[in-house]
Amino acid sequence: NEVIETDILIVGGGPAGLSCAIKLSQIFKTWEKKPEITVIEKAREFGSHQLSGAVFDPVSLNELLPNYKNLNPPLETLVAEEKVYYLTENDKFQLPIPPFLSNHDNYVISLSRLTRWLAEIAEKEGIMLIPDTPGDDLLLDDKGGVCGIVTKEKGIDKNGQRRSNYQEGIHFKAKVVILSEGTLGSLTRKAIKKYNLDAFRQPQIFATGVKELWKSAKPLKPGQVIHTLGYPLSSSEFGGAFLYTYQDNKFCIGLVIGLDYSNPYTDIHYQLQNLKRHPKMAGFFEGGELLEYGAKTIPEGGLLSVPKLYGDGFLILGDSGGLVNLMKLKGIHLAIKSGLLAAETVAEAFNVGDFSSEILKHYEVLVKNSFIWKELKLSRSFRCGFTFGPAIGLLNAGLSYMLGGFSPITFQLEAGYTHMKNKRNFTVVERYFDEKITFNKLTDVYYSQAIHEENSPSHLVIKDPSTCITKCKEEYGNPCENFCPANVYEYIKDKSEYIHINFSNCVHCKTCDIMDPYQVIEWVVPESGGPSYKNL
Ligand code: SF4
Repeated sequence: NEVIETDILIVGGGPAGLSCAIKLSQIFKTWEKKPEITVIEKAREFGSHQLSGAVFDPVSLNELLPNYKNLNPPLETLVAEEKVYYLTENDKFQLPIPPFLSNHDNYVISLSRLTRWLAEIAEKEGIMLIPDTPGDDLLLDDKGGVCGIVTKEKGIDKNGQRRSNYQEGIHFKAKVVILSEGTLGSLTRKAIKKYNLDAFRQPQIFATGVKELWKSAKPLKPGQVIHTLGYPLSSSEFGGAFLYTYQDNKFCIGLVIGLDYSNPYTDIHYQLQNLKRHPKMAGFFEGGELLEYGAKTIPEGGLLSVPKLYGDGFLILGDSGGLVNLMKLKGIHLAIKSGLLAAETVAEAFNVGDFSSEILKHYEVLVKNSFIWKELKLSRSFRCGFTFGPAIGLLNAGLSYMLGGFSPITFQLEAGYTHMKNKRNFTVVERYFDEKITFNKLTDVYYSQAIHEENSPSHLVIKDPSTCITKCKEEYGNPCENFCPANVYEYIKDKSEYIHINFSNCVHCKTCDIMDPYQVIEWVVPESGGPSYKNL
């Protein structure tokens, strides 16, 4: 295998990884011997796998780049107006805005654009940025610590044979590896498992969010932030919706659902279509044009699920470490802050020439002394409260916020897929789409611009396919057809019975890996490809 040596390897070029790289470069400016920083990213372009709501708190960006306003950042839309509604099937009721949802001085942004902008800054700093390079495995040194990673081999055909363009995985060797791969990062998972980093923690729990970007036919005031509870979700489902307006009469709509629902027919993509049909929402879409579509998962466990964030030779940042403030519906500012704290720790490690956990553990101390931990503490019972429905959830959120995060409703939650119930308890809902305001999944996938090399092995591995057509079909009716927001899984019955995997459609959200009730689906990194988000 080709070997590339670098000093610091950052795996994942999202806001956490790129902020860490830029901060390191700033610190090294005055150093005589500057360590080399390399960022690898699985997307073909930096930013094209990045999706978020997103209302952005610039607090950490300001710390990284105090002059950011002069650097032409993609932050055109300041929040101008905020509303929270409870939706019934046909009506809406305005609710008071809880203090933790207040977005004064925040921006409505596109995370894919913010990431591209950070990548440009990193490039100008002379940092080595390598896209289209997914990390596949960890490299270990003689003492069992992390000393690098192996990238995914390329040029394997769907039968597992080498094609003429075959390339072995590259061995990137580094003194320290920074894992900032986003939700359920492949290497982060391996590190957590190998080093038992989640011992005595609540299992991480997740939500899936789907989002569409639209151009309105009518003029829209930029900076409107609308959050909703209620319809189309049932009272037993955790989640909510958002609608944000940008410049040029563009707006986005999104729906998030906790991945601990019980109904195997739940289809978040279809629920988003139902939301757009709602009498109080449909007006936004009439005559408008769909521009983009995407999906992602969000770690929701908060403080109780954060794993140990370091080990010999490595650190874990941002969403990979579950650093998301669910109560504020925000994680980007925490991701950036974790990148800055990791940079401080790594610089100290280079100063003393020691990359063992003895030095790198300082990162976790910094995280715990920063506003990251303060926010996570304040919101630690938020998710637990909503297991009793939205009314108790909101009441608990308000009370615990006033009590500095304390709440008697703080307990460990089980992994979400364990809540799925037998299909006989539910009815199948017939789906319909008008292809003007509401679209079927395949049409929406087209707007994600997801693509994978068709003649390569599927990166979605069903470890025991017989389970799908026996137990899973009987018990849950193959819920993979419903929970995948990109129409990847298809039950086929012709001469034989099987689940066909349209892996080319995959938008890398990882819902299937999380929500499969038998846990037989594994999302592994593909050699290349994925969605191509421009403004999500
Ligand atoms: Fe998401 Fe899995 Fe569907 Fe890909 S196959 S889009 S990771 S649910």
